[in-house]
Amino acid sequence: MQAPMSIAQQLAQFNASLPAQVRLVAVSKTHPNEAILEAYATGQRIFGENKVQELERKAKELPADIQWHFIGHLQTNKVKYIAPYVSLIHGIDSLKLLKTVNKEAQKNERTIDCLLQLHIATEETKFGLSHAEAEALLAHPEFAQLQHVRIVGLMGMASFTPDAAQVRSEFASLRQSFERLRQQFFAQQSSFCELSMGMSDDYRTAIEQGSTLVRIGTAIFGSRHYTSPEN
Ligand SMILES: *Cc1c(COP(=O)(O)O)cnc(C)c1O
Repeated sequence: MQAPMSIAQQLAQFNASLPAQVRLVAVSKTHPNEAILEAYATGQRIFGENKVQELERKAKELPADIQWHFIGHLQTNKVKYIAPYVSLIHGIDSLKLLKTVNKEAQKNERTIDCLLQLHIATEETKFGLSHAEAEALLAHPEFAQLQHVRIVGLMGMASFTPDAAQVRSEFASLRQSFERLRQQFFAQQSSFCELSMGMSDDYRTAIEQGSTLVRIGTAIFGSRHYTSPEN
């Protein structure tokens, strides 16, 4: 059997395959600081976490120039823990949550970049807004008053299915939503430019459909060990 590749080798191979316009979010959830530092040493700076406490702890312990992306489902009562550290929140799915992020960003005297999460999968369990709900949020008078958040794009997760055609059409629909919302609400703002789609199993399809941020865990760090204690 061949020796498994190191994190640095996986990353090098992965980055070599990414087109220039696509950035890699290295999804480090459940993995220890040492694994993150190994990736950091190769130049990787964007890391993704989906638990508030885990992001807070790692942000305090690890180098300050890491850009932490929150990629999980965010509860309003927990926003305060990541507000000082987070560089991009991928999963905004309500005006209420966005208002809370705005409030906590203001307390920290900063602006927090956010993506609206759209529901594109057929599965019931995935979070996110419909296209119409995203439109309604962006058109809401209260949204215009939020000075400490900036919507820089959309995020979505495709169905967990081996049906490549279905995954492709789900990513295509997210791309269409992105184009429509950009024309309608962000025509004057070049900052609305990110499309977060694609994970270890479907990132090639996502890139083909216009992804600018791929969120990759397993293909870089190996499988996750959910049973290990929060270290
Ligand atoms: C865990 C996670 C990923 C990474 O998944 P892999 O299959 O390990 O690449 C991407 N996006 C979200 C929202 C996640 O929770």
